[in-house]
Parts: sequence; C-alpha cells; structure tokens
Amino acid sequence: MIPSDEFDILIIGAGLAGASLACALRGSRFRVGVLEAAQTPCLAEGWDARIYAISPANVAFLTRTGAWPRLEVQRMQAVSRMDVRGDRGGRLQFSAYDAGVDALAHIVESNRLAGALREAVQGAAGLSFIPGQAARLSLEEAGARVNLTDGRVLRAALVVGADGAQSWTRAAAGLRATTHSYDELGVVANFACEKPHRATAYQWFRADGILAYLPLPANQISIVWSTPEAHARELLGLSHEALAARVAEAGEHVLGGLRVLTPAQGFPLRQLRTSAVVAPRLALIGDAAHGVHPLSGHGINLGFQDAAALSEVLQAAPAGRDLGDMRVLQRYAAMRAEETWMIQRFTHGLHELFRPGFAPLSWLRNAGMDVAGKIPLLRSMAVRYAAGLW
Ligand SMILES: Cc1cc2nc3c(=O)[nH]c(=O)nc-3n(C[C@H](O)[C@H](O)[C@H](O)COP(=O)(O)OP(=O)(O)OC[C@H]3O[C@@H](n4cnc5c(N)ncnc54)[C@H](O)[C@@H]3O)c2cc1C
Repeated sequence: MIPSDEFDILIIGAGLAGASLACALRGSRFRVGVLEAAQTPCLAEGWDARIYAISPANVAFLTRTGAWPRLEVQRMQAVSRMDVRGDRGGRLQFSAYDAGVDALAHIVESNRLAGALREAVQGAAGLSFIPGQAARLSLEEAGARVNLTDGRVLRAALVVGADGAQSWTRAAAGLRATTHSYDELGVVANFACEKPHRATAYQWFRADGILAYLPLPANQISIVWSTPEAHARELLGLSHEALAARVAEAGEHVLGGLRVLTPAQGFPLRQLRTSAVVAPRLALIGDAAHGVHPLSGHGINLGFQDAAALSEVLQAAPAGRDLGDMRVLQRYAAMRAEETWMIQRFTHGLHELFRPGFAPLSWLRNAGMDVAGKIPLLRSMAVRYAAGLW
C-alpha cells in the first residue's frame, strides 16, 4: 500500500491553474496531492470584482474536466462583439462570427470558477487536498521531497509549481525569473449600467492607460483600468459616485451612467519570464511559469492551457515511466513554448505601442488600428489574438 504522504504528482498551489490540473488528472492512474497554503474563502453573495474572460479553447478544456458545467449560467456572460478604440479616433470592431466561434470569450467570476474546480475534484479517487505550506524542496534522482512548515514531509515523482507569480517552488528549484514591472496597477470594479451592453466588450487605449469594459449578466459590467500607479491610487481613493462618473466619462458614456456594485481593487502589473519551465522532477504552470499584462485577458488562459498540456503529456507517458524524467517533461515545455512566447511578445508590444503618455506614436497607432480593421490578414490576426485562438 502507498503511504498517505507519497504521490506520483504533487501540485503546489490550488489556485485556478493548480486546481484545473488536479481536475484534468481526475480518474487517471496517478495518485495526486494538492498542497494549498491559503484557506478556502467563503463565496460572498455579491459579484466578485475579479473576473476572467475565458477563451473558447479553455471553455472546452474546463468542460472536459467537468468544472464548466458546474458554473451557474445566470452568472456567466458570453462576449459576442469587441469594440476597440484608440486615443485619436482609431477603431477596430469584430465579432464572434468573424472568429468562427459561438462567443469570443465567456466572462466568469474568479471565485465561482475556483468553486466549480474544487467541486469537480471533491472526493475523486486518488486525489488528496493537503492544507499546508511548503518550506523546503529537494529534487533528487530517487524522487522529490517537500518539507512543510509544520514538519510534515511529502514525497512525489513529480512536483508541479502552480503557486503563482511569486512562486516559492520556482525559487526553491533555482529557476531564474525575469520580471518587467509596468509601474501600473490594474484597477478592477463592477458597475450597473444605464444602457444595454449587448454582449459587447469595449476597450479604450487612452493617454492615461487601457480601460476595458467587460459585460456581465443583468446589464452589469466589470472594468479593468490598467493605469500608472499614481493615477490608479487616485481612482482607488474616489467615492463610489466620483469613480462611476470617471469611468463613464473615460468610456465615452457608451453605456450611459454607471453605478458602483463592487468596490475598486488594484493589482500590480508585470511581465514575468522564467529561464525554464521544467527541471528534473519539476514542472511550472500558470503564473509561476509566466506573467503577462492583462490588457488582452490572456493570463489564466495560458495557465489553463499549461494544465491541459501537462496532463496530456503525463497521461500519455507509458506505464512505469518515471514522471519526473526530463524526456517526459521536455515534451510539456515544447508544447507550451510557442504560444507563451507569442502572447507575451505581442501583448508587451501592444502595451509599448500604446504606453500611457507616449505621444510620438499616437498617429501611427490610431491609423494602424483603422488599417488593421480593413486588411483581412491583420484583422483575422487581431480577432484570433482576442479570442485566444493562437
Ligand atoms: C487586474 C488583472 C486582471 C486579469 N484579468 C484576466 C483575464 O481577464 N483573463 C485571464 O486569463 N487572466 C487575467 N489575469 C491574470 C490572472 O489573474 C492570473 O493569470 C491567474 O490568477 C494566475 O493563477 P495561478 O493559479 O497561476 O496563480 P494564483 O492564483 O496566484 O494561485 C497560486 C496559489 O498557490 C498558493 N501558494 C503559494 N505559495 C504556496 C506555498 N509555498 N505552499 C502552498 N501553496 C502556496 C496560493 O495560496 C494560491 O492559492 C488578470 C490579472 C490581473 C492582475
């Protein structure tokens, strides 16, 4: 019998990326442990200010894992159209029809998605949730060992670091991370709006940052305003009425007046690249493996695709093959390298082109937006990028 502290795969971190990998491995031949340091938060009644635009590929992945059908349809919103506007009249509009998909994305709340993933794995055979914090990691030829802060010791053939941007696992394994701070915060909040949003996501590339309106059910919206820190702090200090007025004005009153539903929160924005996403007996997924500016909402979408690829590689490994073997892990790294590189480069390039206060390129970027809307190849690239179809 296998001792209770011994696993084939030990996932460190049960955030969205780690929990989705656990879900994808449900029913496999592996014994899987999921270690999580934080307590499970209670689901509040109101709307979570942290929302995600989930790409069609990830709706399919989460459906396969059994998590997606557990989400309440009344709390989900399909995005049918995108309307992107520059700071000097540039405009690019496209629809799900252009992309050949039912919806460009589905907007879901972070806490509901986390709850659905947890529900899907609850009681699954071969899967153990372990509350606790990792403190020491050793990756040896015979196996990996993780010492917890409370003295317990867990062993596994493979350790997966799914512990977020500040990944303890990545640092403990000696993998280098290079970060580029945008010196911006992403200000998020939810609003009720006066006019119908008609399932449209709006984005304004403004002199003071990038503002996105993402549609929610019942004619509500969630916003992400990526803006220099000083401006973000000012927005966070406004009264609800003043914030609603500022956001409505910045959004050209396209949805009429706004009313705050969920108070604003700010998140620091940075790009993160790692020297490698695998090492003997170790793989990184999610924000532990990469960080990307949220202007196109690709962050957790990359993380879910990491989980999908890693679970596919592990389940395809011949029975008896050591899961910590680099021949297995390199396949995962190769599967994820191109998409991660392209999304990071393109998103960073887009941010630099529209960098707040960077006036010299103003004419070029607005004209570029108009041209991109008229040239089929550029337009199709923009549509595919937005829908995460790369
Ligand atoms: C403002 C903003 C808006 C965004 N919007 C979008 C969007 O629309 N679409 C999108 O795809 N992405 C978006 N993102 C990106 C997205 O938020 C992240 O990519 C995602 O949350 C990362 O998930 P994760 O599971 O990799 O990491 P995390 O959510 O950070 O989870 C890591 C987990 O590991 C646990 N942990 C950490 N250390 C330890 C340890 N030592 N031992 C045990 N457990 C540990 C933590 O408690 C945590 O639960 C946005 C980001 C920002 C800032």
